[in-house]
Amino acid sequence: MTLVAGIDLGGTAINYTFIDASSRWLIDGLCEHPARAKDGPEICLEQIAGGLEIAAVRAGIRLDDVGAVGLDTPGPATADGVLSAEGSTNFAHQGWVGYDVRGALAARLGRPVTYLNDGNAGALWGHFAIFGAERAATSVSTIIGTGLGGGVIVEGSVVKGRKGFGGELGHVLVPYQGITAIAGLTPQCNCGRTGDLESLCSLTAIGKNLLPYFRRRYPEHELAKMPVDQAAKLVRGRAERGDAMCIEIFRVQAHALGLFFDEMVNTFDPDALIVGGGALETGPAFQRWFIDEIRLGMPAQRTEQADIPIHVMPNGDAAGARGAAIEALRLVQKNLPAGTAGASA
Ligand SMILES: [Zn+2]
Repeated sequence: MTLVAGIDLGGTAINYTFIDASSRWLIDGLCEHPARAKDGPEICLEQIAGGLEIAAVRAGIRLDDVGAVGLDTPGPATADGVLSAEGSTNFAHQGWVGYDVRGALAARLGRPVTYLNDGNAGALWGHFAIFGAERAATSVSTIIGTGLGGGVIVEGSVVKGRKGFGGELGHVLVPYQGITAIAGLTPQCNCGRTGDLESLCSLTAIGKNLLPYFRRRYPEHELAKMPVDQAAKLVRGRAERGDAMCIEIFRVQAHALGLFFDEMVNTFDPDALIVGGGALETGPAFQRWFIDEIRLGMPAQRTEQADIPIHVMPNGDAAGARGAAIEALRLVQKNLPAGTAGASA
């Protein structure tokens, strides 16, 4: 039996999952282990290997049956998993600079290892959750968190790009001047751009641009009377409970996403648009309202494209590990003799 492991490496925690050749998940929810990334690559690699053994016991499988491993980490990194020479906030230890984390893990585990950045892994999981193992579908996923991540899956394959920056959707410019609710605002992104998707649709967007703008209109609001970073984290909960200012802030985010999705519809004519991340860890009624607002923010579509489905991404916490596992499963299936993919014996 061929099994595949998915390993989601973050700065503080590693999350594991396993999938079999019939696309069945062998772990429900999270299986976590400390990452110790701040102690450098050597110690962290031992943590990954040790945690994998613990996870295998928990899943009731033999590690010998694991034929390949999918790894994902926060970027920036090349498409092959060499971390940026300019460093990364999650991997601050000097040893990580320009480190080939994929190659080193393959050597340590003695197995093929595939690599995706965490945004692309999340996007592949969202795609798989909707389309299953069907290979022909195309989707665009946005994950609204502290920043805005995501990915593009074209006919079943992740678009990694020439330098590993494929799917950096947060830094795509959107024509925000058309959003009348923020007339006069020049939304700045930490990347230096003005008016990209992350500057309008992320927790950072709320703290840096949207909340300061709307607080001037609502000077008596309770969120106008506390530090802006603290207040920004309360906006989603207040919006879900019906607060007028916070609803306006979420409506602007949805309309910005609508403008961005319109660009994607015209670029890829995708089978689905997918939205996930902390912003949508809410009840179903708020999720439906947000999706409706995204549609209202989209310019009119061609008749043939007006029914483009917009989905909420399921299972947020395990998305990275699951996406990483799917990428490795595809490697294994590509290397199986014709006609045996999907066999579980
Ligand atoms: Zn940006």
